[in-house]
Amino acid sequence: MHYVVCVKQVPDTSVVKLDPVTNTLDRSSAPSIINPYDAHAVEEAVRLKKQSGGKVTVVSMGPPMAVSTIKKCIELGADEGVLISDRAFAGSDTLATSYALTQAIKKIAEKEPVDIIFAGKQAIDGDTAQVGPGIARRLGIPVLAQVNQVEHFSAEEKMIRVRRKIEDGHEVVESKLPCLITVEKEINELTYAPLPNMIKAAKYNPIVWTTNDIEVDRSQLGLKGSPTVVGKIFAPPKQSGGEKIQGTADEVVNHVMDKLLNVHGLFAKGGV
Ligand SMILES: Cc1cc2nc3c(=O)[nH]c(=O)nc-3n(C[C@H](O)[C@H](O)[C@H](O)COP(=O)(O)OP(=O)(O)OC[C@H]3O[C@@H](n4cnc5c(N)ncnc54)[C@H](O)[C@@H]3O)c2cc1C
Repeated sequence: MHYVVCVKQVPDTSVVKLDPVTNTLDRSSAPSIINPYDAHAVEEAVRLKKQSGGKVTVVSMGPPMAVSTIKKCIELGADEGVLISDRAFAGSDTLATSYALTQAIKKIAEKEPVDIIFAGKQAIDGDTAQVGPGIARRLGIPVLAQVNQVEHFSAEEKMIRVRRKIEDGHEVVESKLPCLITVEKEINELTYAPLPNMIKAAKYNPIVWTTNDIEVDRSQLGLKGSPTVVGKIFAPPKQSGGEKIQGTADEVVNHVMDKLLNVHGLFAKGGV
């Protein structure tokens, strides 16, 4: 079994700030971390490897500093890591990103065919949840999205049955391999990296590929290959703290009605 996990390095969005002048993310304001969903994807691939044998390869597209995210995956139990990094990828939207990652996965599969591709449900910075399904579509394989539990996995029968989140509950779906799975955080609990993995990660040098190493059509990469246009990025206005109304029930209701009718002009047109 060969599991490939797509991992993205993201700014920690719990601390990142928006640049009020350029309306862009000020990436220098936050440390870079592994996209949290992707850590769970690596954990799940490693869990299946422990259960049925095989190998886990992670792949990331990003600047040279994304090497640290790949090392993190080695700590979590991945065997190999590939970083695709080239100025030609800069400015890629989700269409171009999924294209570049697909071409890298095809090259990884030349050495050893891939059975399951894992991705996070979404990245915490871009939030589109498009890249995983985009890769599956390009490879022509089934996509099982928003998976929160692997119910059954058989390496011999080359099949997997999973539970996936839907709006009002969950559904259980089965797929033949190869397939692509996007994971929710509930799929597993992250375990602490054992010391040998940490030592291995510290010494590990990921494979780095540029556009010269993978077969790509440059017109499908970067800004040229990105039909998406970002109109504006802004932080939603902060919610005010609200108002605490005190008094008897009658006083509170009267006060609320007064606010709704007279201050906020609610029902002003139709009347009540
Ligand atoms: C016009 C435009 C220009 C842009 N320019 C840049 C730019 O110059 N630099 C930049 O960093 N971003 C840029 N972006 C953002 C970039 O397109 C997205 O971050 C990227 O396509 C991933 O989309 P997402 O973050 O919504 O990921 P999602 O689709 O939400 O991610 C889902 C999963 O896909 C996988 N995945 C996503 N991205 C990667 C990756 N890079 N490597 C490995 N796995 C991945 C992960 O498993 C992740 O959990 C640009 C976007 C647009 C629209």
